[in-house]
Amino acid sequence: MNRIDADPGPAATEAPASVRWKGERVRATMDVGERGSSPPSRSRPAFPLAPHEVSAIATAKLPLRETLARYDIVPRKRLGQSFLHDPALGRRIVTAAGVGPGSEVLEIGPGLGALTIPLLESGARVTAIEIDRRIADCLQETIGERPGFTLIREDVLRIDLTEVAPSTGVLVANLPYSITGPLLARLIDHVDRIPRAVIMVQREVGNRLLAGAGGRGLGAPAVLLRLLYRVRRLFEVGRGAFYPPPDVVSAVLALDRIPGAALDSSLRQAVNIAYRHRRKMLRKTLKETVASEEVLAAALVALGRSDRARPEDLEPEDWPVLLERAGARSSPREKRS
Ligand code: SAM
Repeated sequence: MNRIDADPGPAATEAPASVRWKGERVRATMDVGERGSSPPSRSRPAFPLAPHEVSAIATAKLPLRETLARYDIVPRKRLGQSFLHDPALGRRIVTAAGVGPGSEVLEIGPGLGALTIPLLESGARVTAIEIDRRIADCLQETIGERPGFTLIREDVLRIDLTEVAPSTGVLVANLPYSITGPLLARLIDHVDRIPRAVIMVQREVGNRLLAGAGGRGLGAPAVLLRLLYRVRRLFEVGRGAFYPPPDVVSAVLALDRIPGAALDSSLRQAVNIAYRHRRKMLRKTLKETVASEEVLAAALVALGRSDRARPEDLEPEDWPVLLERAGARSSPREKRS
């Protein structure tokens, strides 16, 4: 297995003391802030690679290894630092985002710019949020002067998105797997600003976001997201498209806001409570907050579902109708106006 495990402990913006690559301990490099005092060595074997990985890198057109070595950056697994090295794929994702001159883009985790550069070349203005100081330094030095580019050195999960995000724009991201869930939850809160998103996620996460009734895949965030966005899988991306290669296959998804879609608090609350007890019957878990057990049972049957239905027996679009039938919320049409 290809694994890079940074030592636990250091804050996100500090360099790890050492990393583990395929079981070997490799000395970690200094932060870019120390570049002046200790010039990085290009020959340092920071990334012992398997032969198939070497050939993947050799055919790459983006000089990722050189850039990482020059800026003394050791990719950190816990920040999801697997960088796309195929420029054609970067362009394909940007084309899918449908942006061009005049578009506003919010990019999460620009890394070394695999998506940022084609986004800027399309004529779009890009606000990019990057947590890693060394990577941000590198990006600032390489593309910081390009017109239309704004770099924000922050944790996207902590920053107030309403302050930094364009008033309306497209979100583009090759998402670090560790933050996919919380970021999608934030997307739900900022739906008015983000009518479209093109995101690369772990294939299994994509499958969960696209799951239907009867499967175990859906969770509360996926249901809420699907009530706001039409979610489509565009294509899959193999491990070899990244350096270092991640453990999993990725999928690129397009999310398009359903015109007028909105979530009210009772709907959010009901979905969240139901999925917190996903093995229990809805008429039991929702009887305190939505309606009596009898009313819920009747509403489920009117919906064509069993009165013993659990959350995973419902399609996302069943939820507003269920709550409306149970008398807990106004008509979805009224809410969507
Ligand atoms: N977009 C680049 C690409 O496609 O090659 C890099 C993608 S890499 C999978 C994820 C990037 O997100 C890394 O640059 C990482 O440092 C950054 N990142 C991780 N967690 C973050 C967070 N909480 N806020 C902002 N950026 C984050």
